[in-house]
Amino acid sequence: MPSTTTEQRRNARVILNRLKKRYPEISTALQYTEPWQLLVATVMSAQTTDANVNKVTPVLFERWPTPEDLAAANPEDVEQVIFSTGFYKQKTKSIIALAADLVDRYDGVVPADLDELVKLRGVGRKTASVVLAEAFGIPAIAVDTHVKRVAFRLGLTQNTDPTKIEFDLRALYPEKDWEAVSMRFIQFGRDTCHAKKPECGGCLLRDRCIYPDKTGG
Ligand code: SF4
Repeated sequence: MPSTTTEQRRNARVILNRLKKRYPEISTALQYTEPWQLLVATVMSAQTTDANVNKVTPVLFERWPTPEDLAAANPEDVEQVIFSTGFYKQKTKSIIALAADLVDRYDGVVPADLDELVKLRGVGRKTASVVLAEAFGIPAIAVDTHVKRVAFRLGLTQNTDPTKIEFDLRALYPEKDWEAVSMRFIQFGRDTCHAKKPECGGCLLRDRCIYPDKTGG
């Protein structure tokens, strides 16, 4: 774990407290009833919105209600169901392979362990962290493109590699805040600190931000 100073941790806490005030309640928008469904939905959320995924998952999980069912599904049938989420051929391959791994390795039961989750095909640390935190309540920081950008601009990391960023954030925040950090950084990155043209004018973190290309006065 990287070492941090008291001042760095204090700054990190101020940032999170402001974001908690702005986003008091926050959780994944992906709909699911069982951990394996969240795992599949998270894989499907690549390159699309959670709302788009939610439109197809009820049909997907009604037709193939268990990992065993999905592992044995005809890919063309799955493609038809998830077509509207984009990259449907690749996503179909991914979720069928994932379901097959889940059955082969873990008897269809999602392991509540990051090192085990990332052994499943198509599951990286980000997806594994989302599932751990959301479905099992286990502290984890999911580093997606928004977390990466926001953490970097706020000077909470000097790294660009997601795993290193995850460890930098772990070192700055207590475990109880890990999920809160990633969920709020994601929301803040989506609605304010955009990749292009961030809304710096009225930004609540402007005084904490080291990004040199701020917009607005
Ligand atoms: S000031 Fe701009 S770049 Fe910095 S955190 Fe706010 S929106 Fe992002």
